[in-house]
This record gives sequence, C-alpha cells and structure tokens, in this order.
Amino acid sequence: MGHILVEGVRVSTDHFIGGKRLGSNRTFEDISPIDESILGQIAAGGQVEIDMAVAAAQRAFPAWAALGPRGRGEYLKRFADVIESHVEDLAALETTDNGSLLEASRLRVMKRSASNIRFFADFAERLQGETWDIAASNARNTVLYQPAGVTAIVTPWNAPMMLASWRVGPALAAGNTVVLKPPEWAPLTCSLLAEYAEQAGLPVGVLNVVQGLGQEAGAALVAHPGIRRIAFTGSPATARSIGKAAAENLTPVSFELGGKSPLIVFADANLDTAVATALDQYDNAGQVCLAGTRLLVQRSIADQFMERMRAGSSKAILGDPRQAGTVVGPLITRVHLERVKGFVQRALQDGARLVYGGKSSEQLGGLYFEPTLFIDTPAGSEILKREVFGPVLTFQTFEDEEEAIVMGNDTDYGLAATLFTSSEERAQRVSAALNAGTVWINCFFVRDLGAPFGGNKQSGIGREGGQWSFDFYCDVKTVCHRLRTFQA
Ligand code: NAD
Repeated sequence: MGHILVEGVRVSTDHFIGGKRLGSNRTFEDISPIDESILGQIAAGGQVEIDMAVAAAQRAFPAWAALGPRGRGEYLKRFADVIESHVEDLAALETTDNGSLLEASRLRVMKRSASNIRFFADFAERLQGETWDIAASNARNTVLYQPAGVTAIVTPWNAPMMLASWRVGPALAAGNTVVLKPPEWAPLTCSLLAEYAEQAGLPVGVLNVVQGLGQEAGAALVAHPGIRRIAFTGSPATARSIGKAAAENLTPVSFELGGKSPLIVFADANLDTAVATALDQYDNAGQVCLAGTRLLVQRSIADQFMERMRAGSSKAILGDPRQAGTVVGPLITRVHLERVKGFVQRALQDGARLVYGGKSSEQLGGLYFEPTLFIDTPAGSEILKREVFGPVLTFQTFEDEEEAIVMGNDTDYGLAATLFTSSEERAQRVSAALNAGTVWINCFFVRDLGAPFGGNKQSGIGREGGQWSFDFYCDVKTVCHRLRTFQA
C-alpha cells in the first residue's frame, strides 16, 4: 500500500474500493506545479479496478438507499464535520498539488467542500414530492424521489476537492452510491476525501475512489453498464466523448463544462467595484470555468477603465501560491503552459495588442504566466472565442446596451456573465437577454447552493443545486393513487 507525505500530510496513493486501499500494477507521476517536483507515484486504474469499484458500489447500494434521507444524513453530517476539521491539511495538500492560492483554499474553498456535503444532506431530509389531486378521477398523483443507483463522478484539477464534494454530496444524499475518478493532474485531495469518509463511518462501498488517467480509468467508468448516472465536470471535448459512451447505455448525464464569459461594465457602474472584480478574473491563474475573461466596457469610460486595469494588472503579484499576497500562482502543467503560450502567440499574430503581460516567468521556474491583458482584438479572432484557462483577459468596447448584449452573447459558451451598472432597469433587461446559466449583477461568484447552476450551449447539459440536483440523481417516480372506490 502506497502513501506519501506532502506538506506534513500523509496521503494514500492507492484507490479506495469497497472500503479497502488497493494499488495497481501501473502508476502515474503526480507533479507539483509550484516547482515541478515529483510528489509521488499514483495508482493508475483501468477496467479491472473500475469493475471492482462499480461492483462494490452496487453491493452497498440497497442498504444505503434503504436508510432514507435522515439515516443517510447522520452519516453525511459526520462526513462534513470530518472534512471541516481537516481544512488546513486539505488546503496545504491541494495547493501543493494544483497550485491554487493557499489562503483562498484555507478560508473558503475547503470549508465550502464541507458545506456541499452538509447542505445536500439537509436538503434531502426536507425534500418532498408534489402531489396533485385529480378530482374527476378521485385520484391523487404523488411524486417520489428515489435513489437511482451507482453514480460515476469525474472531476477536473482546478478545484478537485470542492468540485468532487459538489457532486458526491447530492449523489450520496439522494441514496446513490458513488465511484469517483479524480483528476490525474491533482489527485491527492480526493484520496483524502475517501479517508474522511472512512473516518466518518460511511458504510463500506458507499464512496469508492479510482485513481487513473482519463482515457483509461475515466473512459472505463463512464462506459460501465452498471452506472446509473454520470456527473462530469471538465472540458467540452471530454464531455463529447463521455456523451458517446453514455449513449450506449442510455445513462443520464450532467455536464458542467467550460466558459468564455463576458464581464460587462456600463458607464454608470461603480468603477472601483467593477475594476476590482475584473482584476479578480486572474484568480487561480485564470484556471476558473466561470472566469469573466472577456471584458466589455462602455466606450465613454474605456480609457480610464483600461488605465486602472493596466495599473491593477501590474500589482497582481505572480508567485508561490503558498505565500500571502500572491495573486497569480502557477499553471497546472508544462503542457498547459505551452497551450496558454500558444493562445497568446496566435492572438498577437491575429493583430491583438498586449497592454500587460504576455509571457511566462523563467525566474520563477517556468510554469508561472504573467497576468495578461489584450486590447484591439480583431472580431472573430481565436482569443475572443476559445477558453484559454489561463490568466489572459481581453478588453473590448461597446457603444450601447444593445451592442453589449450582442457582444456578450457572441460565444459558443454560455456558463456565466457578469454586469456592472447602477440602473436597476438596465440590469433586468441585460440579465434577461444574456445567454448564460448564471448572471451576476454588481457582484461575482456569489450563489446559494439551492439555486440552479450549469451552462448553456457548449458550457454544459443540465442544472445542479438544491432541487435540481435531486431531479438528476434520483429516479423521479409518479404514483397514481385512487382515493376511494367508486360505487357502481
Ligand atoms: P478534462 O476534460 O481534460 O478532464 C476532466 C476529467 O475528465 C479528468 O478527471 C480526466 O481524467 C477525465 N477524462 C479525460 N478524458 C476522459 C474520457 N475519455 N472519459 C472519461 N473521463 C475522462 O478537463 P480539465 O482540463 O481537467 O479541466 C478543465 C476544464 O474543466 C475547463 O474547460 C473548465 O472550464 C472546466 N471546468 C468546468 C467547471 C464547471 O463547473 N462548469 C468547473 C471547473 C472546470
């Protein structure tokens, strides 16, 4: 059995299947983006491990489902407590594994992981199907939310723990059992998630974790005929391949994918807030699905806005994500760094002009890319169309509300949009007209877990959050009940 010690945290490099740690013959290397040091060799699962994990989850399913929401809730709230008591370990480990900012992880991200589990456990206890009386037939229709079976959860590296808990929470609260395939570029905190499930006493087989590469463990999991739901967070390209596998078994999918979201600033906006929020888009080195990377600014305030962005970008400290004050940490891998560089080079070839940044910092070891701001981006150029997933923003101007809406919607994605204005009427008109799963008005990133989350167009299929999660993870059944016998 393999373990490694990272930042003083002992973490298993094995799978967690049917309550046991298991290795594989093959491994893959886990590398820290902070300095490209090798953290360890992680078990690389494939068909065999997936078959074992799905079988374990199938065995655990009837008893877990039979516990009912309250019985499951007791386990899940203990699970959330254990996660919460290890926030410092989780944050240290994830920062080393994926390069996200330590402070944000300690103060927000890991706590949110615990809330994800607790929130859905509570919600399941209150979940009641609607009823309809059909007077003409003396009958009543009642809706039941029933556990669906084994759920496959596949997650990306940019927030591995938070994104896993966001799917594991509702799936388990719904009464399903889970096989989780963590991201190979940052697999460690999901290994701890299994550890904490065990510490919280979750029954054997309820949560299984199979480590491995997407093409191997991931592909085997989503194609498995024993899977009843697939919850995937990642890129549209992978979603297309998962969609094909799911189609073979007619497995329902929930896809949360990428974005190219607009951040729209009207001349009547509070500029301090709007500029601060625009600068926040460099967060996590831009490796955030929701990032508003297309800045659209009303022409009359464009010059002053741009000056403030230039000044703010120059103050966004690039460096070690463990250090307080760092604003932009590293990109996840050298492969990804080259991808981001490629976007920047092609944008320059297309005629875009750099206002700030544009290169990696060799001084910091290579994986650190400067906060980068482009202006004069030609209409239709790649940098306006494709998701970079790096700290790269574009700056465009618009004349009026109508043009802002057209430019905001000029994308194949539809995950989110943010707008700043002091006019309530305008806020209502523009938010209604933007094609996005979430629209923020004069704020960013705020959302109650009960509200639906998901994307339009290439940004996803389905919604999760509150009731929407249970609509997906449950088999929703209508029972039609005759209220009294008719006398002939
Ligand atoms: P990715 O699609 O490359 O990988 C995501 C996961 O899918 C990984 O665990 C990977 O191993 C697995 N995978 C890869 N190929 C597979 C296959 N054929 N079958 C099954 N699984 C497979 O994405 P990524 O690079 O890890 O993540 C970045 C992407 O995720 C970006 O597009 C980003 O916008 C998106 N994202 C979306 C959200 C959201 O909530 N909408 C949140 C975070 C990230």
